[in-house]
Parts: sequence; C-alpha cells; structure tokens
Amino acid sequence: MMAALRHTHLIERLPVVRGRLRADVALARYTWFRVGGPAEVLFEPADGDDLAHLLAGRPAGVAVTVLGVGSNLLIRDGGIPGIVVRLGRAFAKTRVEGTLLRTGAGATCPNVAKAARDAGLAGLEFLTGVPGSIGGAVRMNAGAYGGEIAAVFASATAIDGQGERHALDVGAMDFAYRHSALAEDWIVVEATLAGQPGDPAAIAARMEDVQARREETQPIRTRTGGSTFTNPSGMRAWELIDRAGCRGLRRGGAIVSEKHCNFLINTGGASAADLEGLGEEVRRRVFDATGCRLEWEIRRIGVPAASRLAMVAEGSP
Ligand SMILES: Cc1cc2nc3c(=O)[nH]c(=O)nc-3n(C[C@H](O)[C@H](O)[C@H](O)COP(=O)(O)OP(=O)(O)OC[C@H]3O[C@@H](n4cnc5c(N)ncnc54)[C@H](O)[C@@H]3O)c2cc1C
Repeated sequence: MMAALRHTHLIERLPVVRGRLRADVALARYTWFRVGGPAEVLFEPADGDDLAHLLAGRPAGVAVTVLGVGSNLLIRDGGIPGIVVRLGRAFAKTRVEGTLLRTGAGATCPNVAKAARDAGLAGLEFLTGVPGSIGGAVRMNAGAYGGEIAAVFASATAIDGQGERHALDVGAMDFAYRHSALAEDWIVVEATLAGQPGDPAAIAARMEDVQARREETQPIRTRTGGSTFTNPSGMRAWELIDRAGCRGLRRGGAIVSEKHCNFLINTGGASAADLEGLGEEVRRRVFDATGCRLEWEIRRIGVPAASRLAMVAEGSP
C-alpha cells in the first residue's frame, strides 16, 4: 500500500458515492500496454452527478487523474497516487438527433462510428481507426485518415476539479494537432459530434477501408500505446526513427515495432520503465542522427517504482 494510504486512509476520507470506489487497484489491465502500478483509489462513478459529488467533496490536495481506455497512456510502475477516475458503461450511451451524435465520454470511438453509420450519419468514419474513448479522443484531438475530432466537434460537457459542470464549445477547446486546451483536471463526461446525412452502405465501405489500412500499417493486435511521438511540423516521426536506425530496438521486454516504428510494443514482460526508457533512447538517437527533438504523444503518468518504494519505506512503522 502507498504511504499516503497507510497514514490517511484516503478511501475513508472520501464522500459516500453511488459508484464503485476501491483502494490499491492494479491498473495494468486498464491500459493497452498492460503495464503500470496501482491506483491509490479507483473510482468508477455511477453518473455525472456522482462524479461531481466526489470531486466536490474530496479532501484538498488529493490529485485526480482520469483514464479513458488507456490506448495512449503509459502508467508508470509505481502507480498513481490520489484518485483515478474511470468512466464505465454509464458513460457509454450514444444517440443520434438529426445530424448530431450525442455520446457519453466513455463510449469507444469505433462504437460511435458504428452508431453514426447505422443512423446514416457521414463524417465520423475516421473514428473507427481510433481505439480510444470519446473523452480521450476529445482531450487528444484524435484523428486518423484525414479526419480529426476538431473537425466534427460541436460541444462537450466537462466537470472540473471542484465538481462544477462546464459547457464547452469549439472555441473553448482551441484544438491543435493532437492537442486541446482542456484544463488538466477537467473530465469530459459527454460530447456532441456533428455529421452530415449519408448513405449507410457508403459509410460502411469507408469504415472498412479505414480498418483495412490500419491492419496493413499498424501493429494493432499487440500491447501498444499507438503513436509514441507526435509528428514534428512537416515531418513524420516514423521516418526520423527509421533514419536513426531504431526499428526493432529493444530494452527489456519493450521493442520498437518493426511494422510501424513510431509504435512501442510490450512483447510480454516489459515494465513501464522499459517502455519509457526505450522511448527516451529513441528520442536521443533521433536527435543525434537528425537534430530533431521528438515530443511524446503518449501520456506518461504516475510515479516510477522507485518513488513508490521510497513512499512505502517512509510510511513504514
Ligand atoms: C493500435 C492503436 C492505434 C491508434 N491509432 C490512433 C490514430 O490513428 N489516431 C489517433 O489520434 N490516436 C490513435 N491512437 C491513440 C489513442 O487511441 C487516442 O489518443 C485516443 O484518443 C485516446 O483515448 P483513450 O480513451 O485511450 O485515452 P487514454 O489513453 O486513457 O488517455 C489519454 C489522455 O486522455 C485523458 N482522458 C481520457 N479520458 C478523458 C476524459 N473523459 N476527460 C478528459 N481527459 C480524458 C487522459 O487523462 C490522458 O491524458 C491509437 C492507439 C492504439 C493503441
């Protein structure tokens, strides 16, 4: 158990909620990489009001971190202190109203693409190529094959660290390439995306095309975190990585994908430290070979194993 938990029993100092609240929960299974330490407390809210209630009533200074489906996330081996929020099924509902698709932030992008297809709503096909949740996709301005969230975003609702709701329009989001201006402690709970009327068969064909191209170019059936680095302006990260000779580079159980060298893969026994260390090694080599500094797209969160051990040691009687 983490030191903070031993001394202060965080879970016992939190308000009574309707959702699920658990202490010291292993998080690796909630991420695509399948690595990372535990959450001090994991909270799966029953609905938006439940989430707002917990945030408003949490003790001052307790950190809050939100997980989507962990497809662009590296959780460090020491885990995440404070409260980790995960939006479950209650946040996965979608409904189409005219040319607008309203969705909970916990719905997965491929499911939203399917709902749009079934309703004859075109323009959201690219979402079938993004394996994340809508909340994660809004935060990251996810995009694929010419489409991106910024182009289809109509509005969203987010809850801030004090439990207050905010309506967000596209101006408030200030979207840029794989970036939004969403405050770090704001949690998107629902979003409305805009499409245009279209023929479901033509939409389905475009979605199949996106799927086929992904299968061909990305290691989508592995333990990966998607694109590791953002593309520097006018360049492609994978080309720089290839030029620096990093394709197939290994550290512990982590490897740079042979198929798409901007993807890191956990071959089975990797730790988060292996994956992060390998990523940093790639950045160093790319800089030495090309003078270009790659920036992480993957969000790295939590504390290293050594910090956790230190916290536990500090907290020992
Ligand atoms: C095989 C593979 C292929 C991929 N291909 C693409 C691609 O083509 N294009 C692309 O853009 N991405 C791609 N990705 C990356 C990833 O799917 C996207 O970045 C996605 O938007 C992340 O969503 P998530 O739910 O997994 O978020 P997570 O990885 O869980 O979290 C990512 C960030 O979003 C934040 N977040 C999550 N939910 C919320 C919320 N409700 N409110 C506020 N913040 C939140 C987290 O705190 C974190 O900072 C790929 C990933 C994989 C594994």
